[in-house]
Amino acid sequence: MKNYSIQLLKPQALSLLLSVALLAEAQSFENQFVRPLGTVINELSSRFDVKLKVEVDTVGKLVPWADFRIRPYSLEESLSSVLSVFDYKALVQPDGSYKIKKYEYMRRTPEDGRKMLNFLNTLYANQQEWEKRRECLRTEVKKNLNWEQALSKKVLNPKPLLSKIRTYDGYKVQNFAIESLPGYYVTGSIYLPKKKGSYPVILMPNGHWPDGRYNKDEQTRFATLARMGVISVSYDLFGWGESELMVGAAAHRTPTAHIVQLLNGVAVLDYMLTRKEVDATRIGANGGSGGGSQVVMLSFLDDRITAACPTVNLASHFDGGCPCESGMPVSLACGGTNNAEILAAYAPKPLCVISDGKDWTASVPELEYPYLQRVYGFYNATEQLSNVHLADEGHDFGPNKRKAVYGFFARYFKLKATSADESGITIEPKEMMQSFGGQVDNLPANAVRSLKEVDQHLNKKTAAAISSDLDIEKKSKVWIDSLKLNDPAKEARVRAVVMKHMKIVRDWHNDHPYTTVPAGINPLNGKPLNEIDREVIANSGKPASVHTDLMSGLRKDLTEEQVEKILDFYTIGKVDFTMRGFKAIVPNMTAKEEEFILKQLRLAREQAVDYKRMKAISAIFEIYKTNCEQYLNANGRNWRQMYKEFTDKIKAEKAAKAAAEKNKNN
Ligand code: ZN
Repeated sequence: MKNYSIQLLKPQALSLLLSVALLAEAQSFENQFVRPLGTVINELSSRFDVKLKVEVDTVGKLVPWADFRIRPYSLEESLSSVLSVFDYKALVQPDGSYKIKKYEYMRRTPEDGRKMLNFLNTLYANQQEWEKRRECLRTEVKKNLNWEQALSKKVLNPKPLLSKIRTYDGYKVQNFAIESLPGYYVTGSIYLPKKKGSYPVILMPNGHWPDGRYNKDEQTRFATLARMGVISVSYDLFGWGESELMVGAAAHRTPTAHIVQLLNGVAVLDYMLTRKEVDATRIGANGGSGGGSQVVMLSFLDDRITAACPTVNLASHFDGGCPCESGMPVSLACGGTNNAEILAAYAPKPLCVISDGKDWTASVPELEYPYLQRVYGFYNATEQLSNVHLADEGHDFGPNKRKAVYGFFARYFKLKATSADESGITIEPKEMMQSFGGQVDNLPANAVRSLKEVDQHLNKKTAAAISSDLDIEKKSKVWIDSLKLNDPAKEARVRAVVMKHMKIVRDWHNDHPYTTVPAGINPLNGKPLNEIDREVIANSGKPASVHTDLMSGLRKDLTEEQVEKILDFYTIGKVDFTMRGFKAIVPNMTAKEEEFILKQLRLAREQAVDYKRMKAISAIFEIYKTNCEQYLNANGRNWRQMYKEFTDKIKAEKAAKAAAEKNKNN
């Protein structure tokens, strides 16, 4: 067995040894209260007489301090304490049972929704304050959605591919395919009133109903509205229906779907407004479930929409369970938002929210509707807002929900036919509703054949990259605020310099990890290159301007002292921290020695700011610390000896303290 002498260990290693010893001791005590998660859940179920449906993996999962976590007065608190160990959570169901699920970023609890809305309400007490917040939402929601980028790639004035018109009892149907992004076609059907005239148009984005827009309930709604004097336009979800021919079905559950589906809505509306029978002053949006999520976003993004009716989707505690609804992190905008607040930005335009008692929209009458009423109240426009709540119904687009939709649009679009007649609607087979006959071979020659071809137009940032951008923005703000420059223009310039540098450094290191440098031998010592050596080599390929732009940008607006402060933020104060370490170890440090060491540490700092990982930053400092040790040795000091004396002293102090402690306890 190797016998390590304790004196050779660095102070960190010493404290690590102590913690390991303490932990081992604690473990044996704690072990007495560790119990399998499955057992604990079963016990909670019988103790509180409640059904707990487990939708997570419990195999091999152990709950530390299990019994202590159970609170006899509260099932919810007990569940929360037990499940939080694994990042699981319990969601109460309408029947009083609970589902135990993994943490889901998009799904919270009605109680969370209540707290969030209460919090949001504190941010604005009148129209002026609300509009300030709305301005922030308009900027950041779009940014988090990468919306401007997507809009810039939208095909301008595409020539639509239109089918022959099919005529039925009181309405007509025509299929279309419109190139929304280069090579990507949004496909759907237009339901037209039978007679010629000027009609309102309603965008009908689809939800995840069985068969999508071919679904019977869906077709019934589109056709009935056409009979009432509305042009209703339904179109496929991304990756569903004929979109699947271009990007495949798996493409649906991606953040790309979130962006493209909304862009499709805009492209369809662009086209509809070129048709002479469309009245541009009456533009509606209506959809259920995932289609309702699209209505919330479309009414936020596209000012042309004059009346909106999201159906069975709205909740302050649920962003939509599919990446096509919540794949891009819009709810992170402005420090945190939700669909209710995004929809509130639609005030004071006519809005009808349809909800039911058996899905997440059950909270609408109590939470989201009163919240929306308050914001509509800022405009004295509460009469423009309505909620049709069907307490006994579930998550569907059944007759009563359709009736509510017909009534809302009849009122606001002043339709002549105020009563809707669903009898005798022709439910078409899906083949009839398709533009390409469901065949890849019938796609236009330029049509994309993969998700990748769509993504290349979007230059889509991943949610992780966006959240990392937000981190960089926050960090740079804290740093520059601390300088108290009292000059907004200067602050903005310095912040821009820092953010640009941090983003380039992050992207460079993400794109050039150390693994891109072949493992080789360090010519100086003949040893294999380690991770950090390889990272340094990878970093040397980065353009020198990345660093010089940072330094010159900072120096343009800041004093040398302020520049140093920023560099210290980058390197979490390592210059000062390391200097104090040297002073503790080197007795009676001379001014000359201090000057040399400080110079080395400053060099380390300036080099380290170009690295992303703290591990790399520390390694850079190690290199310069070694330089300092060699300098001291070459100038009459003995580093090894000084270090040993230092650790001995620390050890003696600790022992004395422990002895004093022991005496006190005795
Ligand atoms: Zn979806």
